[in-house]
Order: sequence, then structure tokens, then C-alpha cells
Amino acid sequence: MCKDIGDDPVTGFTLLIRTFCEKFTKSSSLTHSELGFSPRKAVRTYADVVLPLALPKPFTYLVPEQWVEQLRFGMRVEVQFGRNKLYSGLVVALHQPPPQVKKPQAILAVIDEAPILQPLQYKLWSWLADYYGCSVGEVMHAALPAHLRLASETTITLSPLFEDDFSGLDDQEYLVAEALKIQSELSMQDIQGILQRKTVFPVIRRLMDKKIIYLKEDLKERFRPKKVSCIRLQEPYASDRRRLDEAFERCGRSNRQVEALMAYIQLARQQEHVRRTDIYKLAKVDASVLRAMVKKGIVEAYEREISRLSTYGEEVKDVPPLSDQQERALREVKAQFRDKQVVLLHGVTGSGKTRLYVELIREALERNEQVLYLLPEIALTAQVIERLQRIFGDEVNVYHSRLNNNERVELWQAVLDGQPLVLGPRSALFLPFKRLKLVIVDEEHDLSYKQQDPNPRYQGRDAAILLAAQHGAKVLLGTATPSLESFHHARTQKYGLVQMPERFGGIQLPKIRIVDARREMKSRKMQSHFTTVLLDALRATLEAGEQAILFQNRRGFAPLYHCELCDWHAECIHCDVSLTYHRRQGKLKCHYCGYQTALPPACPACGNPQLTLRGFGTQKIEDELQIYLPEAKIGRMDLDTVRTKNAHTRIINDFEEGRLDVLVGTQMVTKGLDFEHVGLVGVLSADQLLHFPDFRAAERAYQLMTQVAGRAGRKKKQGEVIIQAMNPGHPVLQDVLRGDYEAMFRREIRERHAFKYPPFYRLIRITLKHRKPEVLERGTAHFSGLLKEKLGSWVIGPAVPYVSRVRGFFLMDMLVKLERHARKIAYAKQVIRDATIHLHRAEGFSGVRVQVDVDPY
Ligand code: ADP
Ligand code: ZN
Ligand code: ZN
Repeated sequence: MCKDIGDDPVTGFTLLIRTFCEKFTKSSSLTHSELGFSPRKAVRTYADVVLPLALPKPFTYLVPEQWVEQLRFGMRVEVQFGRNKLYSGLVVALHQPPPQVKKPQAILAVIDEAPILQPLQYKLWSWLADYYGCSVGEVMHAALPAHLRLASETTITLSPLFEDDFSGLDDQEYLVAEALKIQSELSMQDIQGILQRKTVFPVIRRLMDKKIIYLKEDLKERFRPKKVSCIRLQEPYASDRRRLDEAFERCGRSNRQVEALMAYIQLARQQEHVRRTDIYKLAKVDASVLRAMVKKGIVEAYEREISRLSTYGEEVKDVPPLSDQQERALREVKAQFRDKQVVLLHGVTGSGKTRLYVELIREALERNEQVLYLLPEIALTAQVIERLQRIFGDEVNVYHSRLNNNERVELWQAVLDGQPLVLGPRSALFLPFKRLKLVIVDEEHDLSYKQQDPNPRYQGRDAAILLAAQHGAKVLLGTATPSLESFHHARTQKYGLVQMPERFGGIQLPKIRIVDARREMKSRKMQSHFTTVLLDALRATLEAGEQAILFQNRRGFAPLYHCELCDWHAECIHCDVSLTYHRRQGKLKCHYCGYQTALPPACPACGNPQLTLRGFGTQKIEDELQIYLPEAKIGRMDLDTVRTKNAHTRIINDFEEGRLDVLVGTQMVTKGLDFEHVGLVGVLSADQLLHFPDFRAAERAYQLMTQVAGRAGRKKKQGEVIIQAMNPGHPVLQDVLRGDYEAMFRREIRERHAFKYPPFYRLIRITLKHRKPEVLERGTAHFSGLLKEKLGSWVIGPAVPYVSRVRGFFLMDMLVKLERHARKIAYAKQVIRDATIHLHRAEGFSGVRVQVDVDPY
């Protein structure tokens, strides 16, 4: 449950806004009379404007006479809010009757000439705000590219591409550009000073449109080229082709080396640089063959940088024909789309789901329809993007984190103009689609579709289904391991269901072995975290010139007390979850209901006095593995190693190109990657996944293990998977072993029903935060009292969350658990909203932050 709860720019304003609103409500009775409209006055127009802030509703401004004609829904205007803050807000309604409250301020400037937002988009924003219990302003903040959200805090710089060409600039634009040449960056106040006027956003917008200025934050992003491994002949063969015979002689009796050399010569005829991977493909050899040839002085390896954003025009390829299974699945998907809006495509890893998406996309594009292809995390799915770019060339628009703000705005505009295909993470669903007819949600089970922080805490997959419904579009959810929710909907006929049980090309699913780590431990064979079985398999894999992936859960740090002899671990008496150890209080706690108990002196099941704290991380594994495999090149991929923007791609790329032999990683390594030479996948500790304190633990464990196993042996031959576990008989492990998703589903869905969890019940998590634990404690008591008065037993907790202090804030959690009944849910949300207002008005609690998470993960 560790969540990154940061100081986001939006909630930072909460206090300011609250005081503002209070003033505003207090004074409303006074201003009522002032506002009385005399019919003799000219009719005035008012605009409701959404600001990118956590305001309860749009704010009303007066539209000065000169703009009444031109102003329309979806245009940006410059307005003042608070004492002297300027914002660009969006007009979402225009009306004549004056507002009932306080005399509105006038709009300062109109920024756009045409609307940048469409009514349907605003409908989606409003729906999300309502459903996820946040403000429309917060949704706006998430939805609009930064360039479309100017504010007082904005700082601008001159574009590095700008070459002193001042032609075509008007006086004001010229003044700003000129100033930027002298001073590298300017704040809004600076610009107000330079132009001697208050409203500057329209000038800024024009300069941005002309690509003369950038937002400052853009320049922090560095573009890193991609490196590919290439092979060339060593001297003297490189410069003297006539001596190639000698090179062949050096290959000796190795047929594989001869074939590799021939493949090289053939490829070198067509291209300047020969990629290592192309030789593998053509000659059907692996890295060990080339390594031997490098040692013999025949060839050498070198790295070549290629641009990531290069055009793919030259590489556009014909797509291979569909397999029989894909053919059938495609027919079924289309048939089911006739009466179902959503179809779940359940295809095992390597069944070629992407190929199916390609077919559907192609057909949609032929009909001139727009397609949105959602991916859980764009950085980790560069491979899929590349594949699609090879097929669709420039028709693919990627909404990824490497885009700078200008490019984001360009893409926004392109989609508005009808660009056909967009690939992106969940935020791409905010783009202004016009003819959206198909949404593909790839790896729909992936938890990163859920935005954890800040507001709106929305589930991208669910929001995509809503978006599609608004547009009359179809949704295809694709995965090898469906979320319980989606499969449940398929089972109950709400969604269609199409399955692909076999891998493409008749490759077998990897062979899975579950190794009893406890037995090895007892017989003292275990070498730190590795069973001898795993170590032997690793050595054999590397000797065969293949690569290996080792998976260790990030949440492996979860301090879980257990008994190594009988595998006992503490469970909550109220919930279906394990208890975790909190060192500070020396207690075992339940993160769902708050139940706590002292640490038992000995194992309650077998009496073993030595209970152990379990939990180890990827870094330690990387270090230790190096001791056992001194020759191996080991890389690590987890949150620590991928902090910088391009780090994932670099690590994936290193592994792809054979610069690494073993990749140790967290769930990141499980995600949809398609590597050619992975012979072995190891799961270091299945138990940690299975006993994670969360009602989704079994579902997650099944998904993670099956996904990571799916990285083995995808291209040529069957791969091998070794899962280390203390309790090899665990039912989920048996399901993974047999690849029996449905068995896992049946068991889990029964439990969810019995324990009142999703998909049968809805959860709303409420987190209260404050820097002082005493204030938080009293505030929580007050707040939960208010909730329980109205919602009674629906409220569970309050409880100290798993991570009880984040960035100086102490946290308390409450959970509202209720039936999926629209009226009840609406009522509960209203109660939460009222309780929040109440809490903030109460003496001493105005600083307590209330964070609402509907359908939390
Ligand atoms: P999934 O996403 O279902 O795990 P992929 O789409 O990654 O599977 O496909 C697995 C592998 O099979 C990929 O390397 C892909 O290029 C290949 N493949 C899938 N379908 C075809 C096809 N019709 N023709 C040729 N290769 C295919
Ligand atoms: Zn025991
Ligand atoms: Zn509990």
C-alpha cells in the first residue's frame, strides 16, 4: 500500500481557497441587494470559468462587452483569483442571469481565438470529478498539457531553436523576446513589468504558438539517443575483403561461426551497420557464438547511436499474416462488438495480442476513425510502440513523457484536427478526440492504470470505458492475466470474452518448476537467497549463451513475521490479510481494519521460538548474485535505478542488446517485454507476494508470476521458470504451475464475495494528513465520528496505514465499504464531502488534509 503522497501544486492552494470561499459565503448576504438587477441596465454576460485548482465549482466572472461576441465554450481566459494570482481558466458556461452571489470580477483577457476544449471532454472531466470525489479544477490540472495552463508561477525561456528571427512579431511579442535574449528566463511578473500591463497570457500564448518561447521546466528534459549493438569485421579483413578466406579459416570447425560470418557478409551488402540481433536472426546463432568470434579476432562489436524520434518511414514493414488462432479471435472480437461495448481479450503471454490490435487498428483507420491505444507505463513499453511505428509509420502519435510541453500541445492540436492513432498512458484519454471509435487497453490488469497521487485518483481503464461510451466507441481490454473485475464482468455477460490459449508459432508456454526453499534451508543447501536449483539453472543458462531475469517484489521490504519451520504467519481476525510488523510500537497490525496485537514470543502453531522477519530487496540480490556468478553482467531495474527519465529504456535496451546477462528487478520486469534470448526466469520469493497484506494479494501474485514467467522463451524454444517458495503447495502457486487462471478466479471471487470486497462491494479510502500526530488523532476522531453517525458500519477504521508518515505528514486511513448501489454510493460521497467541510470549519482542524480515493488499490 505504499503510496507516494506528495505535495502537489493543487492541494497547496487548498488553504487559500478555503479562506477565500469562507469570506465569499459570509459576504454573500450583504451583496445580494447590490446585485439586484435593474431591467433598464444592459444585459450582461457572465462566464463560468474552471481554474486548475481544488475549488468546489467553477467560478463566475463578468464578460466585458468587447468580448461577448467572440467568447465561446472551451476558450481560455485570463482571470484573477485570490489576492493577486493570475490564471488561465477555461470557459465552461456562458449565461445572462447574474450569479446569486457577490459581484463577479471581470475577465482580464481572452487567450484563445478558437476553443481548445470540447463539450464531451468537459463532460468526462465532470464525471471523473464527481466519481472520484475531487474538483473539476483538479481534473483540468491533470488533463491539460502544462502549456495550456498558464499561471502566475509560470516561468518562460527562449527556445534553443530560435535564431534571432524577429520578423513577424508584433511590438509586445518583440519586447518579450528581446528581454529573453538578455535574461535567460522571465517570470510572469517580469513580463508584466516589461509590457507595463497586467494581462500578459495572450502574448505568451502567441509566442508559444510561434515556438519562440518554452516553459522553463521543459529544458530539464534531456534527450537520450538509443544505442544498438552492431558487429563489424576486425582488421585486416575489414579493409581487405580479399582476405576473408582467412577469416573463414579462423572459424575452424565451428559451423555456427561460419554461418554467423556468412550472415554478416550478406547483411553488410545491404546496410552500412549490421545489428547484432540481425545476425542472430539470420544465422540462428546466439551471443556465445559471436563472443567466440570476437576472441578469435574475426569480428568486433561496437555501439551505434540512433535517434529515438527518427521517422520510421524507411522501416515501415508489411505485417505478417494472422495465425489461425488470431484469425478466429479477430472474428470473435468483431462479432461480440456487435452487442457488447467492451470485450476482454484473454490471451496467454506470447499469443500475439498485439498482432490482433494491429488488425483492428488498421480497419479502423481505413474507415477514417480515431483509435486510442492505452498502455500502463509508456517508458516500459517502448517495444510495443516501436512495433506499431514500424507498421503505421507517422500515423502513430505517442503521448509520452519525453514529449516536451510544446510537443504535447502540438499533439493536442493534432488530435483535435483528427489525427487517427494515439498511443499513450492513462493521461492520453484526455486528448480532444472527435471520431473516437476504438479504445485498446493493453495489459488491462496493470495497477499502474490507477493514478495514486495527486487527485484525480482515477482508474485509467475504467475512465477509458466511460470515454468510449461517450463517443460510441468500442473497448478491447487485452491481457494474459485479467483483473478479477474484468473477468467477472465477462463471466456475467457485461463484457464479451475472447480467449487465445496458445502461444504464437506453436512455442510452448515456459516450463515452470516450484522449488521448495524451506527444504533447502533446513538441509542448509540454500546459498543466501538462492536455492541450488536456481543457481545451477542460472549457470547453465549463461553457459548456453542465454539470458535470465530474476524477479523480486518491490514490496519485499514489507516486514512480515513468520515461522520458518511451519510457515505460520500472523493474520488479521477480521480481514483476509496478513499482519505487518511495526517496529516503532513493536506490534503486528492490520492495515485494513486497524486491528493490532503484540508480537507473540513463539510461533503459536508449532512453538518455534525463533520467528523471523522476512523481507529482502533487489539491491541485495544483485550484490549477492555477483558473488555466485562472478563472470555475469548483472543489471537491476527497480524504482531506485530508474529514477531518471530514460533509465528504464536504457536498461531494457542494454538487456535487449546483450550487454547484460541477468536482469534483476521488481514488477517492472514483468511488464509486457518481448526479449528474444531469455531462457530462464526466476521468482525469488513467491511467499512475499502471496502473503502481502492486501485483499488483492492472491490475484496480484498470480498475475505477477504468470507475467514474469511469460518473458521466458518467447521466440525460439520453450523457456524455463523457477519459482522459489516456502510453501510449494499453496493453491495460487499450483494455479500458476498449471496456467489455470480460471481456478484462481473461482477461488478468489468466492473470497471476495464472502469478505465483501470488489467487484461485489465498493471501497472508498479516506486518508487524513497532518504534520502533528496529536492534531491528526483528534481530527480523525472528529471526522470518523461524523462519518459513522451517518454511515454506521460501512465505515471501517480509522487505522494507521502501512506507511504512517510521508514527507513529514502523519497519516490515518478510513475505509468506507458499501454495496455497488448508485444511490448509496452517491449518499456516501455526499456525507464525506459534508464531513470534510465540517472538519475544516471546526476549531483547530482547518489544516487537516482530507484525501479521498474511490476504488483504491
Ligand atoms: P503478447 O502480447 O500476446 O504476449 P506478442 O504480441 O508480443 O504477444 O507476440 C509474441 C511474439 O510473436 C512476438 O515476437 C510477435 O512478433 C510474434 N507474432 C505474433 N503474431 C505473429 C504473426 N501473426 N506473425 C508473425 N509473428 C507473430
Ligand atoms: Zn511454526
Ligand atoms: Zn483487519
